[in-house]
Amino acid sequence: MKSDSVAMVTLPSNSHKQETVCIFGTGDFGRSLGLRLLQSGYDVVYGSRDPKNSLLLPMGSKVMSHADAAHEAQVIFLAVHREHYGFLSSMASELGGKVLVDISNNLKRGMYRESNAEFLSTLVPGATVVKAFNTISAWALQSGGLDANRQVLVCGDRADAKQLVVDIAHGLGFTVLDKGSLKAAAELEDLPLQLFPLWRLPLCIAMGLTAFIFFYALTRTVIYERVTNGKDIAFRIMISLANKAFPVVALVMLALCYLPGALAGFLQLYNGTKYRRFPDWLDRWMLCRKQLGLTALAFAFLHVIYTLVIPIRYYVRYRINVFTISLIKNNVSYEFDNTAAWRHDSYYSMGILGFGLFVLLGITSLPSVSNSLNWREFRFVQSKLGYITLLLCTLHTFLYGWDKFLKPSSYNWGTPPVYMLSLVVPCVVLILKLILITPCMDHKVTRIRQGWERQNKTLAKTSQPLMA
Ligand code: NAP
Repeated sequence: MKSDSVAMVTLPSNSHKQETVCIFGTGDFGRSLGLRLLQSGYDVVYGSRDPKNSLLLPMGSKVMSHADAAHEAQVIFLAVHREHYGFLSSMASELGGKVLVDISNNLKRGMYRESNAEFLSTLVPGATVVKAFNTISAWALQSGGLDANRQVLVCGDRADAKQLVVDIAHGLGFTVLDKGSLKAAAELEDLPLQLFPLWRLPLCIAMGLTAFIFFYALTRTVIYERVTNGKDIAFRIMISLANKAFPVVALVMLALCYLPGALAGFLQLYNGTKYRRFPDWLDRWMLCRKQLGLTALAFAFLHVIYTLVIPIRYYVRYRINVFTISLIKNNVSYEFDNTAAWRHDSYYSMGILGFGLFVLLGITSLPSVSNSLNWREFRFVQSKLGYITLLLCTLHTFLYGWDKFLKPSSYNWGTPPVYMLSLVVPCVVLILKLILITPCMDHKVTRIRQGWERQNKTLAKTSQPLMA
């Protein structure tokens, strides 16, 4: 067994201070790590191919050949790219019993069959390999960890070796998350290669929807006016059209946060069990609900800001002046319309309340806030208040449209106004939710979520081994 061939790792006495740490490689990461170690009270010795020409090393550190440096410390950080690990295999005697900290990352996923750390442990079987620090950048090490990522992920097969690395991470002011055995190294090496994986879908939906709604609105307003009446109202692109797209994207994306939950409820009802896996697409969709919601909130913010500037727009002030002057010229009075007053106030009120709750949803999804809530509180805010937010925002849109859907003049070139399109997904979600919360459905879903399974499903399951 591998662990038999490994010499015991000797734990250092009492304190980590004045402990010597060795770093192979005098590049960016090696230099930053060395500086941070020195600042934290460690002695640092570098192992380099060319000790005489190693410049720019932090003051107070020593530099020597790899073999000499290895003798100086129990823990050796490998600040060298995996492609250059070859020289280590000829250092078996110097590295036997040492803890090698693999900090390496790759340029692409799946570049190698095994992780760099596992490769290193086969290359130097006499040493104990610990994977750590690969998710911390050289810049984060230098900036003192004040505003940079402060968590070091660690994995390795030997607890005592891992503890040495954990102590050093703590000594440098980092928190540590133990990810288990060296098998987790592949996952750790994948982390720095990720580029907002959970944001990709929400951002694609947001960009696609914005582009579609913008060009749809452009066609049925600006282009329509130009073609049918010869009027140039292209100036509306800047605020009016943008402010048509933003609320639609916000409302549709808010609805898209709640649609997968409703679909999952129906799937569980159909399957008669919660123990069957959801399809992959639904799993992925559910995973990015927070990102969908935060993107929707960003668009809602834009809608609010664009709406606030409406009264100071030149075009709006011009229209009000023209209207007032025409009333005066024709000696006509402008009658107060009670229904219109109710409608406008209700429309604004729904919008303000909906936006207020929307902000609350966004705040409670932040880790610092959600960590202070228990599961029931979090569910109450994100689910119950979330549906109320969706309802208020949908009502806000209905009140905006009011009776426009009855007027043929609203359907330029036979196309429905933008606000109508925005109502489709929210209405579907609210109807599905309404069905799910009817007492008979709610009772069934609750039982399924508590572990109950429909009889025929249980029978089908238990009868399988008999049939086989
Ligand atoms: P770097 O600036 O290119 O430095 C690599 C060092 O490796 C060189 O300075 C050199 O040191 C040594 N080296 C080069 N060729 C060698 C060879 N053929 N044989 C032996 N040693 C050789 O790279 P780095 O940015 O410091 O990255 C080092 C490791 O840290 C990489 O595995 C990287 O994935 C990982 N990492 C880096 C960062 C970061 O922010 N930079 C973050 C996380 C992880 P000598 O000339 O002294 O021998």
